[in-house]
Amino acid sequence: MTDTDILTADAPVPKDWIMAIAPYVPGKSKTDDGRSVAKLSSNENPFGTSQAVRDAFVSAAPVLERYPDSAAVELRTALGAHYDLDPERILCGTGSDEVLHMAAGAFAGPGDEVIYVRYGFTVYPIATRRVGATPVVAPDKDYATDVDAILARVTDRTRIVFVANPNNPTGTYSSRAEIARLHAGLPRHVLLVLDQAYTEYLDSQDDDGGLELARTQPNVLVTRTFSKIFGLASARVGWGYGSPAVIDAMNRIRQPFSFSIAAGRAAIAALHDRDFVERSRAHNLEWRTRFEAEINALGNKGLRAVPSKANFSLVLFEGETSAETAYKGLMDAGYIVRWLPGQDLPHGLRITIGTPEEMTGLIAALRKIVGAA
Ligand SMILES: *Cc1c(COP(=O)(O)O)cnc(C)c1O
Repeated sequence: MTDTDILTADAPVPKDWIMAIAPYVPGKSKTDDGRSVAKLSSNENPFGTSQAVRDAFVSAAPVLERYPDSAAVELRTALGAHYDLDPERILCGTGSDEVLHMAAGAFAGPGDEVIYVRYGFTVYPIATRRVGATPVVAPDKDYATDVDAILARVTDRTRIVFVANPNNPTGTYSSRAEIARLHAGLPRHVLLVLDQAYTEYLDSQDDDGGLELARTQPNVLVTRTFSKIFGLASARVGWGYGSPAVIDAMNRIRQPFSFSIAAGRAAIAALHDRDFVERSRAHNLEWRTRFEAEINALGNKGLRAVPSKANFSLVLFEGETSAETAYKGLMDAGYIVRWLPGQDLPHGLRITIGTPEEMTGLIAALRKIVGAA
């Protein structure tokens, strides 16, 4: 058979709902002409990860032939001790992405509806459509999560509400009172999935109450990840916390083996390295604040930073310089950021908070691009 024949032959037919999925587009790590430059497109930790974590990872090299512990007992025990949670109610996955997929797989299917916000995390539509459920998009309130808009879209068919807090790609944050109001307005049969991928970046007084809700309510699942502040995106370790019944259902569709032994050891070491986490949080707060001020000082050029509580900033281009022009100009200058036309944000760039050198250089380059240098 030639390649042309194979295209015309009778072929397996994928499900309609699978072909309705727009594949995930990851952040670029090289410029379009192949140069490796500052990567500020995937919300990774600019400090990398600590030496203790690298050592823990390497310590598993001699057991590469072994399957990891399917039940992830050591990591769940460490998480339980660290966050004061019942390890039996923790479920680990290959990144929190897998945990989000397990939530959709266990609780939604054809005929069911899943709600998320307009400028939400792109894994939610994929996880929803993958199981044949119907996505329902709630409009935003100046880019932020609008609890009333979500509640207005709940029907008898709603099975899941996905909310990232802080949200990606907007960086916006819903207060504890707003999250409580959202939960209180949902029927008990609806699972509220609170995706807290960026929660460690919040100021210490900010707590959206998610873990407390998950501890006490039958219909709340909190998800967390080691990919962001802990600097372990490559290790693929995430987890969820919910009621015993929710966790039991999800465990039935979990892949028997997920992250590697090395990744599990690295995650435990990262959890214990509180200094590294605190340094990362303080650095992020300082530079995100400075960066937002720099952007808002370019208001006369049509630039605006959506107020962020995460490790990135969504910059809107509402003046003469388009986001696309800025995206290309920054790439030429050696900075890869995330332009989001596929997420209904052709006027937005999501920029990860990097090292001081990266941020200083990026701001200078951006000022030049918009004619403010
Ligand atoms: C980065 C991110 C995740 C984490 O994904 P992992 O699979 O754990 O790497 C989850 N949710 C949101 C909103 C994110 O931005």
